Amino acid sequence: MRNAFGLMLMSVAAATLIAAGGWFWTSHKSVAAPQTFAAAPATPAPVAAKPASNRDPIEVTGSIPEKIPAVPAPQPKQQACANPDALGVSRVVEIDTTGGPGFGFEHFKQIDFLADKEVVLSFDDSPWPVNTPAVLKALADQCTKAMFFSIGKHATYHPEILRQVAAAGHTVGTHTWSHANLNSKKLNEQTVKDEIEKGNSAVKLALGTAPAPFFRFPELQHNPAAMAYLGTRNIAMFSCDLDSFDFRAKSPEQVINTVMTKLEKQGKGIILMHDFQKHTAEAMPELLRRLKAGGYKVVFMKAKAPMQTLPEYDEALIKDMKMPVASTRPVTSVVQTVSQ
Ligand SMILES: [Zn+2]
Repeated sequence: MRNAFGLMLMSVAAATLIAAGGWFWTSHKSVAAPQTFAAAPATPAPVAAKPASNRDPIEVTGSIPEKIPAVPAPQPKQQACANPDALGVSRVVEIDTTGGPGFGFEHFKQIDFLADKEVVLSFDDSPWPVNTPAVLKALADQCTKAMFFSIGKHATYHPEILRQVAAAGHTVGTHTWSHANLNSKKLNEQTVKDEIEKGNSAVKLALGTAPAPFFRFPELQHNPAAMAYLGTRNIAMFSCDLDSFDFRAKSPEQVINTVMTKLEKQGKGIILMHDFQKHTAEAMPELLRRLKAGGYKVVFMKAKAPMQTLPEYDEALIKDMKMPVASTRPVTSVVQTVSQ
């Protein structure tokens, strides 16, 4: 991914890093609340896997539902951890996304903030019935926190599951509207922008509040022009240090073995997994136990400020989904008692 655009972006990022004194800092120690979640209802749309040779294969098909119920945005709850042997969260880092910093040594080399034995848990393609709630349950049982990169269409299919993710206090970022490969020659600049921004607005609409300005390119296909664009939008980009390749795994054990073997070799890193995948959901309780037993510590990444979505995309999406625009008039100007 080294090229003129990328190097320019890295130079700008490095300069800003020096000027700003760092993208991130440790904010406070925190232990998450244990939560349980019921399995979600049946899937409204099919998702077809691409051949195993493709990275992070997922194809989103089907139409979006007509409306997402307008309910208040979930508020994360802070409770004491009921599990004395929990993996927990050892450190919380807050990310200043100004200029679009990049994380994950597979593609971004300039920000090395994890100490030995520190890991960041991250999940792509959220939300999905059964598997996402199972991952949430496993994380809650271990009082730990993760980042979830949501596909816009999936967010519109299952807003209630994405709200569970946010309500549990995890970071919700975005992962395009339809999981398009943004580095494909078939996509022009406008289509790439639409994929990013419609995805952002869809996740916001589903959550009822803006997500974190955190983005992961589908299949880790980093389009240089899109990287520069995300920089102008102050959206941080996430690759990974350690790919679980869970979408290729034939069993939960394979997911666990891949992650633990790579960790033993690398010692630390941002781990890429998919809460969309059944084997990953099944692997999670044992994987988290193994991380704890191995002396690994979870670092939770959160954003300093929420994502600023673009109003034109918010409005277009609401129109597409036939969502009524909430009235801004006070109740007293709409309803008046005239006789009693
Ligand atoms: Zn993905």
